[in-house]
Amino acid sequence: MSLTDYEKVLNKLVKEIPMLHMMNLFIWSDPLLHPNLPDIIKMNSNLGLGSFLSTNLNIKTEKLDDIIKSDPPYLKITCSGFGSKNYEMNQAGAKWELFYKNILEVSRLIKKYKASTAVEIFFLITKENIMEYKDIVKLGQENGFRVSAGLSMLFPKYAMDFIENMPLHEGAQKAMSLMSRDLKEMLSAAEKEHDRLCANRIGFPNINWDLSVLNCCNFNQDKLADNFFDKSIKELIEMKDRSPLCKKCISYSLHRYSNVQSNITYVQDLLLETTGLPPYI
Ligand code: SF4
Repeated sequence: MSLTDYEKVLNKLVKEIPMLHMMNLFIWSDPLLHPNLPDIIKMNSNLGLGSFLSTNLNIKTEKLDDIIKSDPPYLKITCSGFGSKNYEMNQAGAKWELFYKNILEVSRLIKKYKASTAVEIFFLITKENIMEYKDIVKLGQENGFRVSAGLSMLFPKYAMDFIENMPLHEGAQKAMSLMSRDLKEMLSAAEKEHDRLCANRIGFPNINWDLSVLNCCNFNQDKLADNFFDKSIKELIEMKDRSPLCKKCISYSLHRYSNVQSNITYVQDLLLETTGLPPYI
């Protein structure tokens, strides 16, 4: 998205959402790849809005310096292993060496610019990497970062395919086989929470780089509108509420799948039992 378009999007959002306080600068890509990210962060800050960056930090970027200098409030770094074996198996195409180097670099830059950025390494637990959580916690502590953990899970789009007995591609099958909590168990836990609201409504609207609007960040094929500027937020919410995708998703209880409450206790018990550490440090 160009800087000019971003500014227009931001102005429309501020006008239509009085309680807007945070911009999640990612959807199906890594925000650190955007050439104007530091300008975008500053633009948000000038309006009193936070910038939330979620990244795998597996990019070669000279911009890291300018990004940290622009003082983003929150940087979440996803990670699914310590060392090349599990990390590179779970994050296709990613390189452990680059990730590790960038972690140290972020830490150095935060000190250099006295940035107030809260950094959190989010560890995705699989059947095979769980013992590496200890090493990630140590890495986080050495660099002044928070560490949290959650379950690696099959993406909701594929969970829907699974429910509908559609064939899963090789990558999805592999992801499913690595899940620490079995997919069927997760789906049944989601079913028990059927009457609760969908947490993904909080992040709405999901605006793509080309200004199209996604119905849901979990389903990247399903567009609600071709151009964000053609509809008001109120209209988009109404369209979403009527959308066949949300209706189908709710009918399978998939609106709770990514946020199942019992996962919190599951992760806590699992980590305490295997590593002796809690899921938030
Ligand atoms: S109901 Fe399902 S498809 Fe709709 S926003 Fe929630 S998670 Fe996404």
